[in-house]
Amino acid sequence: MVRIRAARKRFGPLEVLKGIDLDVPAGSVVCVVGPSGSGKSTLLRCVNRLETIDSGRIWVNGELMGYNERGGRLHALRPAELSRQQRGIGMVFQRFHLFPHRTAIENVMEGPVTVLRTPTAQARRQAAELLERVGLADRAHHYPAQLSGGQQQRVAIARSLAMRPSLMLFDEPTSALDPELVQEVLAVMRDLAASGMTMMVVTHEMSFAREVGDQLVFMDDGVIVERGDPREVLAAPRHDRLRAFLGQVL
Ligand code: ADP
Ligand code: MG
Repeated sequence: MVRIRAARKRFGPLEVLKGIDLDVPAGSVVCVVGPSGSGKSTLLRCVNRLETIDSGRIWVNGELMGYNERGGRLHALRPAELSRQQRGIGMVFQRFHLFPHRTAIENVMEGPVTVLRTPTAQARRQAAELLERVGLADRAHHYPAQLSGGQQQRVAIARSLAMRPSLMLFDEPTSALDPELVQEVLAVMRDLAASGMTMMVVTHEMSFAREVGDQLVFMDDGVIVERGDPREVLAAPRHDRLRAFLGQVL
């Protein structure tokens, strides 16, 4: 579903991604861990092309992101085509970014109605189903300020799913939550993984990585230092830098 080859990204003098190769098979979950500043968010943002890589290639769902490849040449996609590619990729951030003046169900309907031109009644039905799926059927008509952080994050997940993505990116989705609210969000993500969604998850929740991840990737300083089956990697980390990192987060 995702194929990343030799991806490099710099911000001015700072090289943030130093040649990343990564494959995420359809239906699998890769968990990305690593210290702050190691390039995890940048990697996700390059996958959905919120950032552009300086060199290398990224394919999602068989399509090269941002380009057409014709006769061995790369042609930048027109904005409408890039938007279509990006619509197939859902992203959930640490902060929820819900529309404050819309109810939960209105937040979930917004994308389908305005972007996909789904008829309102149909969008409302789908939104109600999605809210039910994230355990918030009874909160459909609440405004974000009337919801807990965990509930808001679940609405944000439902809102992403409403666009029917083939890939979901999560960037530390539980890091801003009070500890008692973390599990309800992880439970929704666990269900989503079980339903076959392809997911890239930046997280410090090692138990989630161990239980749900098919692949664990440890990044440090713009490179993937170690990767493998999460249970094996966490039981016997090979690199000192990963051991040191695990010592801090576990
Ligand atoms: P992580 O998510 O692992 O904490 P990031 O990908 O956010 O790391 O950032 C990696 C490095 O790139 C950091 O040093 C950060 O300050 C820098 N960085 C990220 N985004 C930008 C930007 N838009 N402009 C300049 N530097 C950036
Ligand atoms: Mg980050």
